[in-house]
Amino acid sequence: MHDRMLGEGPSARPVRDRRDLLAAGVTIAAVLLVIVSALSVGGTLIRADGAGLSVADNLTISVLLLNIALMLLGWRRYRALKYEVELRRAAEARASELATSDPLTGMLNRRALAEAGARLIDQVLPRNGSLAMLMIDLDHFKSVNDMHGHLAGDQLLRAASDAIVAPLPDNALAARLGGDEFACAFPFNPDDPSAVESVADAILARMKEPFAIGGVQARIGASVGIARTEPGCRTIDTLMRRSDIALYAAKRAGRNQRAWFDSSMERELELRNEIELGLRAGIPSGQIVPWFEPQIDLATGAICGFEVLARWEHPDHGVIEPAVFIPVADESGLIGELSMSVMRAAIAEARQWDPALILAVNISPTQMRDPWLAQKIVKLLTELNFPAERLEIEITEAALLENQGFALAIIASLKNQGIRVALDDFGTGYSSLTHLRAMPLDRVKIDRSFVLRMVEDADAAALVRMIVSLAEGLNIEVVAEGVENAEIAALLGEIGNLTVQGWHFGRAAPARNTRGLLAGRGQLIAASPSAVAGGVVAMRQGRKKRA
Ligand code: C2E
Ligand code: CA
Ligand code: CA
Repeated sequence: MHDRMLGEGPSARPVRDRRDLLAAGVTIAAVLLVIVSALSVGGTLIRADGAGLSVADNLTISVLLLNIALMLLGWRRYRALKYEVELRRAAEARASELATSDPLTGMLNRRALAEAGARLIDQVLPRNGSLAMLMIDLDHFKSVNDMHGHLAGDQLLRAASDAIVAPLPDNALAARLGGDEFACAFPFNPDDPSAVESVADAILARMKEPFAIGGVQARIGASVGIARTEPGCRTIDTLMRRSDIALYAAKRAGRNQRAWFDSSMERELELRNEIELGLRAGIPSGQIVPWFEPQIDLATGAICGFEVLARWEHPDHGVIEPAVFIPVADESGLIGELSMSVMRAAIAEARQWDPALILAVNISPTQMRDPWLAQKIVKLLTELNFPAERLEIEITEAALLENQGFALAIIASLKNQGIRVALDDFGTGYSSLTHLRAMPLDRVKIDRSFVLRMVEDADAAALVRMIVSLAEGLNIEVVAEGVENAEIAALLGEIGNLTVQGWHFGRAAPARNTRGLLAGRGQLIAASPSAVAGGVVAMRQGRKKRA
């Protein structure tokens, strides 16, 4: 709409100017005519001999009156046009203001920032200066908006805008690019980039503080990506793109971080986009498959279950680890679909195992925000006719901390359905002990970072001991994960009656290998002999390959 209003200005101007000229011309012509006819009437009156005015004299007077009328008309028309011109000028100024600024905060908009930024670059570069661009994205703005309404959201955006503008130098540009994304740009001495960092830090420090919005305290936070003009980055487009890439990196590093652009980020972003595209095609076509890591009863050495770990069996790139694609699936909203499809395949597989075996599946923090999660899982269990008691959902402490009330509700509905719940990566959160008491948990899984260090680090061993005794007191089972060698296994054996998993007992393996493993132990029910034999062969080959 703004574009349209701006576009009308220049093309309308010549037409109006012509009309101005015409009105002025008519008025001037009328004035000249009045003067000429007045002179001629004057002459007639001097020659009059008292016998009255002749017909010609009458004509001259009529012309004079006509001219006066014309003159008045022209003058009025000129005034009216002048007024119209003023109105249009004011409307145009407003339109151009609207076209260059964000109506909510009064900051520049994206286009105006790009235009003004390009001009600043032209001024700064010849003087050996540099232009810094900060791209700022608010964290948790959406939840404030959802919880307290759009008016509160608008208020918060205005407050955030003030917080961004406050530490900026005088000649800085500041813009709201849309939603909760802001940017600012200012020249700085390229020998002193710390000046730029101080500005970014001041913005981050303010964003960490609560904002008083309509009687409530809103807590947000922000991430800042920074880029600067330098060889290879001399246009506003590159500068904006680079600061955007840096922002993405800052967000990935966690909340309230700033990051300078560096060229490795660009490649990383391309890779991320490739992964996302690959997942969009790969999930529905079944490329993401469950692998199974055995869980062992340490006292007896018996397999008591498996943890399901997703693997991407990529047609071109081979097997891809979850560390590569789970974060991308999480960010791009694909994790729910991915996890459910892996869970479905895993359950289908586990139906062929000894019914005493537990199947443990991982749920990411993002999935814990889905109010229908428990229903979706129950539906899957019903569809595949799999007993709820055999399924265990692993929830991380991080997911709990993010939204405790909601997470507790989900856990309660899972438990109501008879599904088991385990707390994963235990010990890495902050209020661990409180969680253990407050939740109806079946198991805690001691994070592998502690288990791995047990042998050489007395503190880690002490912590493992403490968790085990605490859990026993609360009647919660304990799983120690990351048991890489016999030494760790022996130490754990001294501590208590635990379930263990880790490379010492067996790495995650594909379904057919797992089938072979179970067949060898007589823990398989529904497989044909040939399938089992095939599984055993595949398993041996897998072992040889790893050795
Ligand atoms: P996690 O749930 O903590 O899974 C345990 C990880 O530790 C697995 O890595 C496993 O291979 C590895 N591990 C097992 N034994 C040892 C050991 O002895 N030493 C060491 N150093 N590591 C060991 P993996 O398979 O790469 O999975 C990484 C993470 O990806 C998992 O961490 C889990 O959070 C996530 N993940 C995997 N599959 C899924 C899935 O289907 N859905 C979701 N939401 N997350 C998944
Ligand atoms: Ca896990
Ligand atoms: Ca874990």
